[in-house]
Amino acid sequence: MHTQQIDRRTAITSIGVAAVAGAAALSARPVHAAMLADEQTGFDPATNRYTLPPLPYAYNALEPAIDEQTMRLHHDKHHAGYVRGLNKALDHLDAIRSGSEDTSLIKHWSRELAFHGSGHRNHSIFWNSMTPDSGSKPEGAFADAIKASFGSLDAMLAQFNAASKSVEGSGWGWLVYEPTARKLLVMQSEKHQNLTIWGVVPLMGIDVWEHAYYLKYQNRRADYIAAFTTIINWAGVSQRFAAASS
Ligand code: MN
Repeated sequence: MHTQQIDRRTAITSIGVAAVAGAAALSARPVHAAMLADEQTGFDPATNRYTLPPLPYAYNALEPAIDEQTMRLHHDKHHAGYVRGLNKALDHLDAIRSGSEDTSLIKHWSRELAFHGSGHRNHSIFWNSMTPDSGSKPEGAFADAIKASFGSLDAMLAQFNAASKSVEGSGWGWLVYEPTARKLLVMQSEKHQNLTIWGVVPLMGIDVWEHAYYLKYQNRRADYIAAFTTIINWAGVSQRFAAASS
């Protein structure tokens, strides 16, 4: 009985702790909300569907690194297609839950959700990974984390460039924050959604699908990646690191 009372008291204390933790999580929300806003995911709670956000700069703002025509096609056609595909997958999954569509297609629509959902999120991060005013290199805690994780900024960029260049087929190169080890990693993804560690926060990404560079660079993916490194939005990437690691 005595033990039970203690357990009950412990349980009540635990609930108290959970409530405090919950309050802390809520107070931490604005930071992560700011991070998501920076990604401009275009989610509309009213319709429960996604919209295509505009580019954060003019179509020609990244010239000469990335040409205007590529940016127009990439944003207005390719990225828009992923937003449509994501919403379509959500529509069909709604219909399956409500019983108006056959559950036998749930595997197909789940795959579509992952592909188009990742396609949309990846492009939102990609546009914000670049800027016409690349500005100063990483400083402070972000610079420290790069040094701790890679040895130096140059070593990180060398790995990022090599990983991006060697993506097999269509995919992405990433700088990510791994929250359980609290360190940075360079990763690849194939297509949009394959090859990751669940829970990592993407800080900076480069699209190495041919549609991202072929008009200007043809088969010279390495030249396109080198150009990307001259237009990295270091301030934005630093903010994403601060939000992810706070
Ligand atoms: Mn793309």
